[in-house]
Amino acid sequence: MTLIPNHLPTADLQALDAAHHMHPFTDGDELNAKGARIITRADGVYLTDSEGAQILDGMAGLWCVNLGYGRTELADVAAEQMRQLPYYNTFFQTSHPPVIALAKRLAELAPGDLNHVFFAGSGSEANDTNIRMVRHYWAARGKPSKKTIIARKNGYHGSTLGGASLGGMSGMHAQGGLPIPDVTHIDQPNWYHEGGDTSPEEFGLERARQLEAEIARLGEDNVAAFIAEPVQGAGGVIVPPETYWPEIQRICDAHEILLIADEVITGFGRTGNWFGSQTWNIRPDIMTIAKGLSSGYVPIGGSIVSDHVAETINGAGDFNHGYTYSGHPVAAAVALENLRILDEEGIVTRCGAETAPYLREKWMQLADHPLVGEARISGMMAGIALTPDKAARASFAAEGGTVGLRCRERCFANNLVMRHVGDNMIIAPPLVISKSEIDTLIERAVKSLDETLASIT
Ligand code: PLP
Repeated sequence: MTLIPNHLPTADLQALDAAHHMHPFTDGDELNAKGARIITRADGVYLTDSEGAQILDGMAGLWCVNLGYGRTELADVAAEQMRQLPYYNTFFQTSHPPVIALAKRLAELAPGDLNHVFFAGSGSEANDTNIRMVRHYWAARGKPSKKTIIARKNGYHGSTLGGASLGGMSGMHAQGGLPIPDVTHIDQPNWYHEGGDTSPEEFGLERARQLEAEIARLGEDNVAAFIAEPVQGAGGVIVPPETYWPEIQRICDAHEILLIADEVITGFGRTGNWFGSQTWNIRPDIMTIAKGLSSGYVPIGGSIVSDHVAETINGAGDFNHGYTYSGHPVAAAVALENLRILDEEGIVTRCGAETAPYLREKWMQLADHPLVGEARISGMMAGIALTPDKAARASFAAEGGTVGLRCRERCFANNLVMRHVGDNMIIAPPLVISKSEIDTLIERAVKSLDETLASIT
């Protein structure tokens, strides 16, 4: 008999939730006053709530359910692995078949000489690993002063002390005395909101060259790495100008700065290729992975590391770092099965060649809506900026910054999960979304935009 109270009415579940459960990134009092929407089942791209409503999940959970919901193969693999070896660690010279196979598979999929994997339980943990690894790397190479990591304002790299410090979210830094020392932030390549009169191409170069200026300010001998998402996700799906990444790559190469591509969102098909680094022609020394690695079915993350980083770390004695769940056998087995299905069913290929271009065609038409100033997209992640004045690329300051929130609530009422970041609306649906489901997503988005517009004028 299950201990999970599926049978309870919604109001009882909400009351229990309010009494005992503290939610991430949530105003607790506000939520408890109205009650959480309780999700009980999911299949394909649809969630079902405790009242039986079918909600199209335009965010794939938190950008993670790349494979879609309800794949029983993953459940079967998890059950079998739990029966055979539910847990063993990878500390102190032990290993096990699932983690061995997963590391090998990731080395095959990752571009260039990214051939080695250090596992973690989440994207945040993996970025904490990266901080420790790049500092240890430079110390092992006789350059211990190379410690500072340059990141970007409005970037997101997780919620641990290290991850939130690398991130450039002012709301997160305002709580708890972040960032930690030796992390600095340059501006983001957000042309629509910050580009002024410059062309996107000029602006991309300008923002990339801030990295070179920051390296000069800090001194090359003090900088360990630059970290960035190929396409900023949580910051509002900020698609960089085409000129940005080639210039960043040139600067990292010229100044002996390790490049960390945080692929927690952009990995595993999200931008139309296996990794965003392939879409944007980036050659990272380290890639952070999580989310789509297991399609969110179990928690797992990691750092895929290039040959030269791995050789240095492996040659420097004990790396005094690791997590109880680094390379957890059940998580590794599920991730391996997830990668098998994404590959063998051609999901990543079909997304890149068919469904993402179809979504692009439909999504970009939203720019014609009177409320929308810009539509942007990379593969299966997309955003729109809401504006009261298209020509001025203005935001809704006069409305107290609540228009995006209002639009998100209209979407939710219309059974579509679309997230807001300020006055930007964003989506990242499961990669398995079909063309007719994309049509439904767009219809519900337009209806919600119309209703939001009506609430303003
Ligand atoms: N890095 C990026 C780019 C992310 O988007 C996220 C989460 O959204 C993280 C890191 C943190 O991952 P996790 O929430 O698994 O710790």
